[in-house]
Amino acid sequence: MANYGHELQFGVFITPQSQDPEAVVELARLAERVGLDLVTFQDHPYQPRFLDTWTLLSWVAGQTERIHLAPNVANLPLRSPAVLARAAASLDLLSGGRLALGLGAGAFWDAIAAMGGRRLSPGEAVDALDEAIDVIRAIWDTTAARSLRFAGEHYRLEGARPGPVPAHDIPIWIGGYKPRMLRLIGRKADGWLPSLGYIQLGDIAAGNRIIDEAARAAGRDPREIRRLVNVSGRFSLSRGGFLNGPSEQWVEDLLPLVVEDGIGTIILASDDPETIERFATEVAPALRAEAERAFPEGHFGVRIRRAAARARRHPGIDYDAVPPSLVDVAIEPGDTEYARVRSTYMRGGSPGIVLPVSSVEQVIDALAFARAHPHVPLSIRSGGHGISGRSTNDGGIVIDLGRMNRIEVLDPVARRVRLGPGARWGDVAAALAPYGLALSSGDYGGVGVGGLATAGGIGWLSRLHGLTIDHLRAVEMVLADGSVVRASEDENPDLFWAVRGAGANFGIVTSFEFEADAVGNVGWAQFVFDASDTAGFLERWGAAVESAPRDLTSFLVMGRPRRGQPLVAQVMAVVASDQPETIVDRLQPLATVAPLYDQYAVITPYASIMANAQGGYHDGQGEPVGRSGLIEHITPEFAAAAERLIRSGAVYFFQIRSVGGAVADVDPDATAYAHRSANFHVTAFGSNRARVDAEWDALHHHFTGIYLNFETDPRPERIADAFPPRTLQRLRELKARYDPDNVFRDNFNIAPGVLAR
Ligand SMILES: Cc1cc2nc3c(=O)[nH]c(=O)nc-3n(C[C@H](O)[C@H](O)[C@H](O)COP(=O)(O)OP(=O)(O)OC[C@H]3O[C@@H](n4cnc5c(N)ncnc54)[C@H](O)[C@@H]3O)c2cc1C
Repeated sequence: MANYGHELQFGVFITPQSQDPEAVVELARLAERVGLDLVTFQDHPYQPRFLDTWTLLSWVAGQTERIHLAPNVANLPLRSPAVLARAAASLDLLSGGRLALGLGAGAFWDAIAAMGGRRLSPGEAVDALDEAIDVIRAIWDTTAARSLRFAGEHYRLEGARPGPVPAHDIPIWIGGYKPRMLRLIGRKADGWLPSLGYIQLGDIAAGNRIIDEAARAAGRDPREIRRLVNVSGRFSLSRGGFLNGPSEQWVEDLLPLVVEDGIGTIILASDDPETIERFATEVAPALRAEAERAFPEGHFGVRIRRAAARARRHPGIDYDAVPPSLVDVAIEPGDTEYARVRSTYMRGGSPGIVLPVSSVEQVIDALAFARAHPHVPLSIRSGGHGISGRSTNDGGIVIDLGRMNRIEVLDPVARRVRLGPGARWGDVAAALAPYGLALSSGDYGGVGVGGLATAGGIGWLSRLHGLTIDHLRAVEMVLADGSVVRASEDENPDLFWAVRGAGANFGIVTSFEFEADAVGNVGWAQFVFDASDTAGFLERWGAAVESAPRDLTSFLVMGRPRRGQPLVAQVMAVVASDQPETIVDRLQPLATVAPLYDQYAVITPYASIMANAQGGYHDGQGEPVGRSGLIEHITPEFAAAAERLIRSGAVYFFQIRSVGGAVADVDPDATAYAHRSANFHVTAFGSNRARVDAEWDALHHHFTGIYLNFETDPRPERIADAFPPRTLQRLRELKARYDPDNVFRDNFNIAPGVLAR
């Protein structure tokens, strides 16, 4: 028996005729409806009566939802591999990861020549295919070179840029028959796709042997290569030859292909709807059942990673010990998906493994795996917007909770909501809006719940409604020892205290329960001020904000001075009211703090202010350099110092956010976020750490503390800045109780203290 353990797939091979294009598409839709896995089309770009295969595949992708798609097989001599790679990656992205790339070196050379393609000898055709696979994979791999050079006999790349990254690891299946081609498949391809007729039934085993040998010689596991076959047949009442009889006979005919020859995908060439339906509903399930009976449980569907991908593994991580619940989802440096998960919004990273988790059980398993690797960094990631960038690392483990992003309104009357850590605040705002509810979170919709709601949450409604953590009523957490606990005022109250300000040090929060506020439309304003008199402007803005009623919250942003241009400041403000008079009343004093270049004010749903994030994956580069300070008042001394900082050019982004109001109503000892007396949070970003630190350290004496979520300075003094002595003492004692081995140490570590008895 030579089965390679691939999950069985059943597909269809439809003629891409152009006389009745809708009929072709309808057959593809039928294939999806009846449960087939794959729809494929031959690719003969010289054939005037056929639809263009790529155009057809794209159209079919848009007309279907689940079924996978493949050219069977793409005609390489008429399709430049670099362009084909981009087309394939694009279609894979558009179809949600449903493409496989069938690829052939060409035949019908007169027809190819008629279309301007070059005639290739059989040997040249193999070499061209060999080069093409390298070119295609290089274009898909954005993790290696930034500009690609390739000097082959048949193809050249002279500085092409890789990308886009496909949605998934697109398998390359080669249609080929001769030994040289089979050896190439063994060395490089992900699948062998012959057609019965071109090859006889009895020849599959011999072909497999050549492929397997070549694979082993290249250091590959033969199971990396899926074996597929195109077949044709017809259903009839009486038994005839191969695939000519009732469906039971089809099962009997096909079973040896699966069991003896290791065929994992059977593709039926047919344009007959009834044949396609019977194949899907009578043959496929029965064949699957027979095949499963023939092998021990767990034989099918084992993930075999490509040798080239395994070669990129990091030392220090025991990849074979990835827990079974995570094997299928784990992302390694050699995987296509790695480009999407390696970095965060702020920081470039190169972790050794990323474990995307979807359930508490998977979090527990991922954490156990991390605990077995105490010598590598461990990052916990929810929305990936952490300013410190510690939700990625170099060479370590990332537990990615992005998929745990449920947003539930548990009780609209009690305003109780439950959020998964991976939910984004923009989505939360949109989901709560229909209930007339909102949670003040931050100013950016892309930020994740997990990182923000474990540290603070300075948002658009802070002065009226306090910090995000002030609305937290309970959390579910996985602790360092793998236990799952709930923490609230009544259950594990110490832990609940610590989570609200220092959560990252205590475990992995897997769900958050909040009490939201009744919020509907709000006033939203943006001003652009002439801030040439920078210190005066800052001071006047600060005074205006402090003296405003709590329903006003305002943020201010300034950039680097530009030669020959006056300094400008952008001020945003939210008035938590839908009454025009109230909004104008609150905005008026702000509008007069400096000469105005521009202003804009609307009444709008809170959710629309938060709908400001772009989707997609993060590709942060390098190390973020940002600092944080909490301050009670914008004093003349601080304003002058801030002006010097801004004019120094050391920072490209300077921001002040108003806090105070309801934030200060909370007792400093009630949560681990203790700097309640501050009316403002100040932050600045630059590119040169030494320069930014030097400027910022000179401001240190103005600040009462820092907010860790805007800090990137790794020096241990920052912990004492974030937590006053009494808070820090209690945190260290609790750390000793909940995380004595300091598992959660990689994002502003609170060292475990002596366990209080
Ligand atoms: C563009 C932008 C705008 C921002 N605006 C605001 C703002 O207006 N107000 C504000 O308060 N902050 C703001 N922030 C800062 C924000 O609070 C932090 O960056 C926050 O950590 C991001 O959360 P995340 O889940 O997206 O981050 P991630 O990068 O996923 O996580 C950050 C850190 O939080 C910890 N963590 C993450 N998930 C969990 C979990 N489930 N359990 C325990 N620990 C966890 C980890 O230590 C991790 O390193 C902003 C950040 C950015 C990039």
